[in-house]
Amino acid sequence: MEVTIVGAGLVGCLLACYLSRRGHEVTLYERRPDPRTAGAERGRSINLAISERGIDALRRLGLAEEVLAEALPMPGRMMHATDGALTFQPYSADGSHAINSISRAALNRKLLDAAEAHPNVTARFGHRLAGIGNGTLEFETDGGPVTEKGQQVVIGADGAYSAVRARLQALQGTDFSQEYLDYGYKELTIPPKLGEFAFDPGALHIWPRGRSMMIALPNPDRSFTCTLFWPHEALAGLDTPERVRAHFTQEYPDAAEVMPHLASDYARNPVGHLVTMRCDPWHGEVGGMLIGLVGDAAHAIVPFYGQGANCGFQDCVELDRCLEETGDDFAGALELFQRRKADTDVIARLALDNFVEMRDKVGSRVFLAQKRIEHALERMLPGRYVSRYELVSFTTTPYAEVERRIARQRRWAGTSAAALLIAGAVTWKKWR
Ligand SMILES: Cc1cc2nc3c(=O)[nH]c(=O)nc-3n(C[C@H](O)[C@H](O)[C@H](O)COP(=O)(O)OP(=O)(O)OC[C@H]3O[C@@H](n4cnc5c(N)ncnc54)[C@H](O)[C@@H]3O)c2cc1C
Repeated sequence: MEVTIVGAGLVGCLLACYLSRRGHEVTLYERRPDPRTAGAERGRSINLAISERGIDALRRLGLAEEVLAEALPMPGRMMHATDGALTFQPYSADGSHAINSISRAALNRKLLDAAEAHPNVTARFGHRLAGIGNGTLEFETDGGPVTEKGQQVVIGADGAYSAVRARLQALQGTDFSQEYLDYGYKELTIPPKLGEFAFDPGALHIWPRGRSMMIALPNPDRSFTCTLFWPHEALAGLDTPERVRAHFTQEYPDAAEVMPHLASDYARNPVGHLVTMRCDPWHGEVGGMLIGLVGDAAHAIVPFYGQGANCGFQDCVELDRCLEETGDDFAGALELFQRRKADTDVIARLALDNFVEMRDKVGSRVFLAQKRIEHALERMLPGRYVSRYELVSFTTTPYAEVERRIARQRRWAGTSAAALLIAGAVTWKKWR
């Protein structure tokens, strides 16, 4: 089949690899210039964490090793208290599993190279999809509007504010909702300190402060990219260099000490929005063409579980599976692919819940004790008791199945605790 993919971001490029491997002719249209020659776009997150779901999708194409060679493993979280105390909490029971910090731009470049290495993939940059007509796709380019003949299948991988989805939303029977958090985010930088990392690069650093939160992920150049999450009006309230410095010195003193360009970075860098988008169904027929959605275009989520791109990569594996099951009948495959919505709804909810955990709870003694108990249970009952974080980040278990399993484990743990209590009470009575 001839397939158009709109959006050559992370998911669009990976999907191009999967579809071309199946023998389809793929044309990728991207609104930006080629990032391999034009450099990265400002205002997008600089790095992100890739974990098992993303790695599995890359591994199936033989790309995982090459991608991970440029990533920095983070086997746990490092919590920073206001008095400078540090607490490390491993992500997995035996400390052996890590999420991986990677540059978004480097990952995008690698995936573009991988897609274009297939002779049946063509990428066209500087083409912003502006509309879908009757069998045609309308693009805005630097040279003016361009109309292209639409191919049989058009997949929207054009991100949270998808133009393809906008056209699908106009169809009768399509449900759509968008939910903004009243929090925004701002990216800041901790440069290398005397040529070395200012903090331990083997951790995702968190400064949990209740109403606000800052995180930092390491980069191969020994810097850290920090993301400050805060309500919009609070972010706007730091409107002078003095206020920025004073606030950071009070709330994030150890970070402020190693951020020489803090005030200028704060003034210059844009505030990002955090949104959850839900659309149902993800496919339809527009202008005689089959339309489908993947990645953020189908289900943008907030970043607090570090799963947006991982989930989008897993979409590609699942769509590939649906094509396999339907003998490459795209209409049938896109309909079957809708079964993934149960999973993406779950991760959308978990990502929102995790914001509260990261912002409010990770610094508390009770939370840390709970995590220690959870890890002890995992070690005592290997394979029988597995934490939600482990299942989400270090397995490819469908997200909805993760939730069913957690519910089963909780019921079982509750019953076992009750049985232990009764047995204890009986023994105590006899002994007395
Ligand atoms: C602050 C932050 C931190 C994050 N951290 C993580 C993390 O740690 N781990 C993780 O897995 N995920 C993370 N995410 C989520 C992740 O960035 C997204 O889920 C992922 O980028 C989605 O990929 P995508 O290809 O679907 O969309 P995008 O990456 O948005 O790519 C869409 C592409 O389509 C192009 N495009 C848009 N409109 C058009 C148009 N009209 N015509 C043509 N092209 C168009 C864009 O230029 C872009 O190249 C984070 C997100 C944010 C905001």
